[in-house]
Amino acid sequence: MLSFNVVIAISLCYVAILFMVAFMAERRAMMGNATWLYSPLIYTLSLSIYCTAWTFYGAVGYAARSGLEFATIYLGPTLMMIGWWWILRKLVRIGRAQRITSIADLVSSRFGKSTSLGMIVTVISVVAATPYIALQLQSVTLSFAVFAQSNGHVWRDAELNATAMWVSVGLVIFTVIFGTRNLDANERHHGIVMAIAVEAVVKLVALLAVGVFVVWGVAGGPSEMLTRIDASPITLWDHNGGRWISLLFLSAAAFICLPRMFQVLVVENADERHLAIASWAFPAYLMLMSLFVVPIAVVGLDLLPTGSNPDLFVLTVPLSQGRDGLAMLSFLGGFSSATSMVMVATIALATMVSNHIVVPIWLSMRPNQQAVMSGDIRHVILLARRLSIAAVLFLGFIYYRVSGGGTALAAIGLVSFSGAVQILPAMIGGIFWRGATRIGAAAGLIVGLTLWLWTLFLPSFGADALISQSVFDNGPFGLSWLRPQALFGISGLDPLVHGILWSMILNTGTFIIGSLVSFPTPLERLQGAQFVNIFEHSAAAPAWTNAAAGAEDLLIMAQRIMGSTDAQAIFEREATRQGKKGYLPEVTPAFIELLERELAGSVGAATAHAMVGQLIGGSGVSVEDLIAVADEAAQILEYSNRLEAKSTEQEQTARALRDANAKLTALSIQKDAFLSQISHELRTPMTSIRSFSDILRDGEVGGDAQKRYSGIIHDEAIRLTRLLDDLLDLSVLENGQVMLNEQTGSLSALLDRAIGGAGLLGSNLKIVRTPEVDDVTITTDLDRLVQVFINLIANSRKYCDARHPRLKISVFDRGSHFYIDFVDNGSGIAADNQQLIFEKFSRVADGSKAGGAGLGLAICREIMRRLGGDITYLPGQYGTAFRLRLPKKKLKNTLGEL
Ligand code: ADP
Repeated sequence: MLSFNVVIAISLCYVAILFMVAFMAERRAMMGNATWLYSPLIYTLSLSIYCTAWTFYGAVGYAARSGLEFATIYLGPTLMMIGWWWILRKLVRIGRAQRITSIADLVSSRFGKSTSLGMIVTVISVVAATPYIALQLQSVTLSFAVFAQSNGHVWRDAELNATAMWVSVGLVIFTVIFGTRNLDANERHHGIVMAIAVEAVVKLVALLAVGVFVVWGVAGGPSEMLTRIDASPITLWDHNGGRWISLLFLSAAAFICLPRMFQVLVVENADERHLAIASWAFPAYLMLMSLFVVPIAVVGLDLLPTGSNPDLFVLTVPLSQGRDGLAMLSFLGGFSSATSMVMVATIALATMVSNHIVVPIWLSMRPNQQAVMSGDIRHVILLARRLSIAAVLFLGFIYYRVSGGGTALAAIGLVSFSGAVQILPAMIGGIFWRGATRIGAAAGLIVGLTLWLWTLFLPSFGADALISQSVFDNGPFGLSWLRPQALFGISGLDPLVHGILWSMILNTGTFIIGSLVSFPTPLERLQGAQFVNIFEHSAAAPAWTNAAAGAEDLLIMAQRIMGSTDAQAIFEREATRQGKKGYLPEVTPAFIELLERELAGSVGAATAHAMVGQLIGGSGVSVEDLIAVADEAAQILEYSNRLEAKSTEQEQTARALRDANAKLTALSIQKDAFLSQISHELRTPMTSIRSFSDILRDGEVGGDAQKRYSGIIHDEAIRLTRLLDDLLDLSVLENGQVMLNEQTGSLSALLDRAIGGAGLLGSNLKIVRTPEVDDVTITTDLDRLVQVFINLIANSRKYCDARHPRLKISVFDRGSHFYIDFVDNGSGIAADNQQLIFEKFSRVADGSKAGGAGLGLAICREIMRRLGGDITYLPGQYGTAFRLRLPKKKLKNTLGEL
């Protein structure tokens, strides 16, 4: 038998452990080295505050009373996580981009930062949460009472109330300590989140342990369990489709509308990507939580005397079997469920109350702007938060007292849920419909709140508590269409379905009509566009994860303005100077001044001052706005850079075009010159052929003259043919359409062949060779090479003007190349003409007698180029000298390459 004092001692120890966990997490976060705090696992576990004492104890009670209907409470959030996680993603993104601190802040910001909307949502949230907090107090109190009872001491109201009060006081202390330590710019509470993650594990383990005990320890195995379930009255409940759908909708909607859920889902979210993991991990958690609900309910109904409270089966079943340890674990599970929910809910509500009710009122009472800029406001907000936490818990306590603590847990929970979902139309409309307006939202919320109060909240205290039985029966002032559970004369509906149906229909209808008939203010329009199109405006930036938010904001701002390396360097220098190497520096006046000077370099002194001033002074413009401005500036800068780059590019293109044009003009001139050259070259032989053939035709000459003339015609025709051949050859070579025919042969044999083909017969040109070296083997297009040799030898024959013309052909082996020099003893070529002779039709000597058209060397140059080598004029050789350079490596066939 567990003594009551032991239960108290264990609970206190448990609280002490939670305290430590929260404290350590907070410290780690402060020091900035707690990345595990931002893991998707912690995020998923923190979502489990959805499973409050209601789910822990109440689900079993619910199953015992109404069969499988309890499952809707788990299915709703599962649907939301899996099916509509894009809604959640949008909420999280908006929350990040707009630095939303609560659901009231979300609605208020969306509709033009409206103070009154913030107030309305806060009021709805507080009123709706009150029964829920009472529910948690009640379940903890009842579970204590169970232990007292098992010690033979039946608690009466006085003891129950005292316990409820002490539990409230304890929760106020814990929450104030960890929930309002500092005014975190992001409203994140690492300590609390860590504590609720631990509690999430404890409650899951506890419920699974009781479940395993019930199935295997009491029933004797799964199959026996199934037989028992079959036989139990639970299966006899018939299911009301309307209620199922309403409950599914309710729990899914409440999942995103409850202030505490919004707190963990959106505000405490460290990284948008965690949502993807939570979208399957959290439903899995819910499934585990609901796994043993029916077995526990069935076994509880079997084992315990009729009239026992089914809400406490999780606790009383192990106790009745003498399993004290298990009962204690189960108690801690329930305790965890209740306390984690209350802590987060009160923090969320306190944030809303202080930001949307206390501060606006405080400010309106103090027109003096000075107070806003001073540190005063921080103290006011902190104090307001602390008092709000106490007040919210006190309200819960009052509800608990007034409602008498008698109503079933599940019923209270549903009333609370249906109050919170009144925010749904304004919220969803706000983030998906640009046409939604403040007037519409406010009207819808007020209508929804009123209907909920009238049809669900006030009746939840029971008949004759706040609403008399006669009003239930006949309506207020005899107006029967206003009966709280049969509005507009529609009776016979389940009260819950009735309340949800009317409040949601009229709420949504009013919201839509109100939005359609009213006009949004410019700020509303701006915010509306930002909310609805959030994915176009923002990037999924990782969260700001350092506690030193002021410094971080400054750093982000500085990075956007002057680039991350420069900004980080300044911050690192300052941190080192302050002795905080590795962390963000303290935001000291000196540092601000320094930063301002640095920023002034980028954006000008006035803007820098305004920007830093806004960040530090915390005035009306949000950090996000400023960052947007900085972003815009950066974008404009980038745009202008791009324009500049483009204009440089265009300038380059223009220059290239000019060059190409000049080249084309030059080419066109060359072409004209070439054509006139050709026609000139052709006309000369043609003229002589025509005139001599004219003479011959007239038949006026005979004998020798006739023979001489036909000889001239013959020679000119040959010259003409050669010229045409050369032209054709050159054009083929120049166009690259030449197919090289690679062969291997001896160089000296090749030279012999060339000397033979150069027409030296009858000429006195003497050829000098270097037979000791020219006996080498080469691999190239031999015919083409011979063509070059012949041309060079023939040129010497034609143009060498020495008395005893002599041409020396020498071969050198230079590693990768052969050099073949052709040097004669003529008077050489003037330096000015040494390049020119390689051009088409270029002749320096009077070549007409020799019959050259000036194409030979041009063809040689092209051939050598095709063979991978070149031909150059060698100056300073006491004569005309050409050098051929021929590679030893194999040829690349260059057909079509040029
Ligand atoms: P061509 O078909 O008229 O021989 P080339 O292109 O072979 O034309 O030669 C161009 C000019 O270079 C010749 O007209 C001649 O004036 C000069 N030239 C070429 N080889 C020699 C040489 N060995 N000695 C003197 N002049 C030469």
